[in-house]
Amino acid sequence: MDKGKVYIIGAGPGDIGLFTLKGKKCVEEADCIVYDRLIPDEILDFAKKNAELIYLGKENTEGGLIQDEINNTLVQKALEGKTVARVKGGDPFVFGRGGEEILSLIEHGISFEIIPGITSSISVPAYAGIPVTHRGVARSFHVFTGHTMENGEWHDFEPIAKLEGTLVFLMGVKNLPKIVGGLLKNGKSMDTPVAIIEKGATENQRVTTGTFNNIIDVAEARGVKSPAVIVIGDTVKFREQFRWFDKQDESKKKVLVTRDSIQAREFSEKIRKAGAEASELPLLKIEGCLETFNPEILEEYQVLLFNSPNGVRFFMEKIKDMRSLGNLKIGVVGSKTKEALESFRIYPDFVPEKYMVSELAKESVKHTGPGDKVLVVTSDISPCEEEEWKEAYGREYHKLVAYRTGKIKYTKEQIQKAIKGINYITFLSSSTVESFWESMEGDLSGTENIKFVSIGPVTTETMKKFGMRIDLEALVYDAHGVAEVIGGDL
Ligand code: SAH
Repeated sequence: MDKGKVYIIGAGPGDIGLFTLKGKKCVEEADCIVYDRLIPDEILDFAKKNAELIYLGKENTEGGLIQDEINNTLVQKALEGKTVARVKGGDPFVFGRGGEEILSLIEHGISFEIIPGITSSISVPAYAGIPVTHRGVARSFHVFTGHTMENGEWHDFEPIAKLEGTLVFLMGVKNLPKIVGGLLKNGKSMDTPVAIIEKGATENQRVTTGTFNNIIDVAEARGVKSPAVIVIGDTVKFREQFRWFDKQDESKKKVLVTRDSIQAREFSEKIRKAGAEASELPLLKIEGCLETFNPEILEEYQVLLFNSPNGVRFFMEKIKDMRSLGNLKIGVVGSKTKEALESFRIYPDFVPEKYMVSELAKESVKHTGPGDKVLVVTSDISPCEEEEWKEAYGREYHKLVAYRTGKIKYTKEQIQKAIKGINYITFLSSSTVESFWESMEGDLSGTENIKFVSIGPVTTETMKKFGMRIDLEALVYDAHGVAEVIGGDL
């Protein structure tokens, strides 16, 4: 068997937007993905559906045992002929042990490529508004590990303390007192500025600043934890002016996004664009259920109807040969459904003006003859009046359930914790309302100062049924409409 190839890929510091195009392409094509804890979760969404995902890693890169296991896994998977994406936080060569992995690949004659990543040592300070160099302030920067060596030896701080440039320590939280002590002893002054940036470039970024005088106490009082980057030097002072990423945290209104995790991300993005912060708590989950669907049955049908992007996606997964759709007329409702279909390069034959599946059923008539068969691809909870339509339009309508929507059950305490500090809760369907109500056990205490936002009349009706307030209702009944009505209320 031919040997596979291993791509050693840097994932950047946490913001998915900082992952490289080349890295993304590799992950999309890989048969096997080996990753560690510091990579952004979204990267795994790029994986092929049947790719093998192997989590190996701990937060820091010490510990020989796990490294051996990683090396062996990479070798073994490549020997099986697989294309392997080895994805690590930041850059693979900046305390990433990428070199050791490559040595073991070379030993087994396995080919590899290296895709650098944006290292946390410069990008995390940047996300805190701290430049690592600045004209006239710092003419160099230096990156150190904050760990002692395996034999317990430690940096010689004498030359380090003499450096004029910015000092950056990774993996240094535990040894902060030693780092500060070593530098002070060798001549750095008490008023040297320090910043510690935890979980940089993620929504949980937290920055603690101080000077050598107080930073150890401040860090302890705030419970600073790894992963964090420590930046030492005068450029830290620029944060006051350059702060941007974590700037408006306090002043921004917070919106709870309750959509299923597949659709939540796009909606959260809209919320951010509208000027608020998004916090996700999925109240529903969506699962495909076409395991036993056989595309050959499509030969019996003349028309195919879709009423949601999810329906399109789950259905298209089952289509091996596009030609099996060649003789069908296709109708969709909703611009998002249309877009989903077009992403497969299929352009619908008809798109009713009103966003209702009954309109789809009606329009099918124009594209069929009496007794023709129409397949309605939909979810378990979408309305589908097969009998009624048959009577009205003289066609055979069949419902194909492509996915199910299930409620996710939380305890009341879990919900109450999630809605702390939240200003808006969004309800984008009746089932979301029901799920929320059930988890809260019908008790809305703690929500008095939160505005409830409904996507439209049907959802509003369900909320009324439970005696819930409706503070806002979208003017256009879709996700975008919800973001807009919130944007207007901020
Ligand atoms: N190869 C990585 C570093 C791996 S060592 C890189 O180039 O960034 C792990 C250390 O990196 C952590 O202990 C922490 O000091 C730092 N680190 C990585 N990502 C970080 C993040 N998002 N926020 C803060 N520190 C981070």
